[in-house]
Amino acid sequence: MKPSPLRRIPSVNRILQEIHCTDLPRASAREIVRRVLAGFRSRRAVPEWDRLLADIRAALGDVSASRLRPVINGTGILIHTNFGRAPLGPRMIETIAQIACSYSNLEYDLIKGERGRRAAYLEHLLAMLCGAQAATVVNNNAAALVLIVSHYCGDRQAHRSATLFAGRRSAKTEVLVSRGELIQIGGGFRIPEIVESSGAILREVGTTNRTTIEDYRRAASKQTALILKVHRSNFFMEGFVDSPDTAELALLAHQRRIPFVADIGSGAMMGTEAIPGLEHEPTPGEALRAGADLVCFSGDKLMGGPQSGIIAGKARMVSALKREPLFRALRCDKLVLAALQATAESYLRSGSAPAAREMGDAAGEEDPIPLLQMLRASQETLRARAGKVIAQIAGLPLAARVGLGYAKLGGGALPRSRIQSTVLELEHKRYGADILAARLRRHNSCVASYIRHGKVVIDLRTVFPWQDKELVDAIRAAAS
Ligand SMILES: *Cc1c(COP(=O)(O)O)cnc(C)c1O
Repeated sequence: MKPSPLRRIPSVNRILQEIHCTDLPRASAREIVRRVLAGFRSRRAVPEWDRLLADIRAALGDVSASRLRPVINGTGILIHTNFGRAPLGPRMIETIAQIACSYSNLEYDLIKGERGRRAAYLEHLLAMLCGAQAATVVNNNAAALVLIVSHYCGDRQAHRSATLFAGRRSAKTEVLVSRGELIQIGGGFRIPEIVESSGAILREVGTTNRTTIEDYRRAASKQTALILKVHRSNFFMEGFVDSPDTAELALLAHQRRIPFVADIGSGAMMGTEAIPGLEHEPTPGEALRAGADLVCFSGDKLMGGPQSGIIAGKARMVSALKREPLFRALRCDKLVLAALQATAESYLRSGSAPAAREMGDAAGEEDPIPLLQMLRASQETLRARAGKVIAQIAGLPLAARVGLGYAKLGGGALPRSRIQSTVLELEHKRYGADILAARLRRHNSCVASYIRHGKVVIDLRTVFPWQDKELVDAIRAAAS
């Protein structure tokens, strides 16, 4: 085709014939082509054929890149909220697939042949894992907090106690939270807003850097419905700081007969300090042993399961939460329940959870939780993989070497901790790091990297070994 302007703008069908390769549904592709053509028309511009096709290919490519698709995570951030947090392992996927493609006993009792309890077995597993009397699960940890706060201090609760004590007492609607724990997690999740949207009154305790048990003692009153301790999961404070530990707070709460809930955030099931470079992250069992009545945490952070919010603790309190009408709106779908069941069973089988260890269950079975496998991968293994990748990208206009990097937990967990890791450092002979990084992202395998000292860096700790070949292909395509 000659680069002369077209006499008139061709039809959508004519153009789609020319561009036969797109992974978008035809209706969607037609709509995008129409939009590009309308742009030319409104500018009264009749483009060259090649220019027109290039614009349309770019528009289709942009939309195609926004489809939900796998990404090779070379950032070294293990629980990246932008990349979907914890990846699921083969056992979880297998369970999801089995439940998804068939009918199941989701709410059916196979022994009695009648309606049964949803997630009863999973709740039993979760309670064991947390060392709790009972447990349940909702959509995510934000939902768990909304459920808890609205149950203990929400409008309905206020109404109930107001009728109950008809004028003799004011309603219990206050929740005590330390000023140092009024945190924001990720995009738009703020503890004060969650508390207030549940109809509760937030009673701030202490100061940003120091909150003492005395502060809580003074703040607790007849209106206090709940004491909430929130783990500062995504930042840390240093210097002139103080806050009472869980046990002290639990004692006060129990003396005053106030329910005490700990939001521990990431839900580590094992002692994270066993992994070189990591600090200790609170576990549900620890918080409950220290006297919390309930704990809540995310299922897709350090636990390494699907998106979910787990609540564990006193049986009476867990069943009260499950009776809330709101619980029905926050409950998990069967596919999530399937994945979480496989996750919990993995912990109990592998002996990596305290509950399994105490019972002397088979430790040593290989960890099928991908997040834990990535955390535990040795530098030798990573270096061997890096060497192989480098050998396979020889002959490109690219300086490539194996380097030292630091992986991070991310996802709002252990912000101070970093794990030694192995990285590929890439420097293109002709174009800059930002261009190389963009080309890697736009490749079919969507490789996410980071830039350090003008070089593109790919951390192999967060790349699965089965992705190494794809990674090689992507680097070859992006650099040539
Ligand atoms: C991550 C986090 C949340 C939010 O959990 P989601 O599962 O993302 O809803 C709440 N509280 C703390 C302390 C967290 O770290």
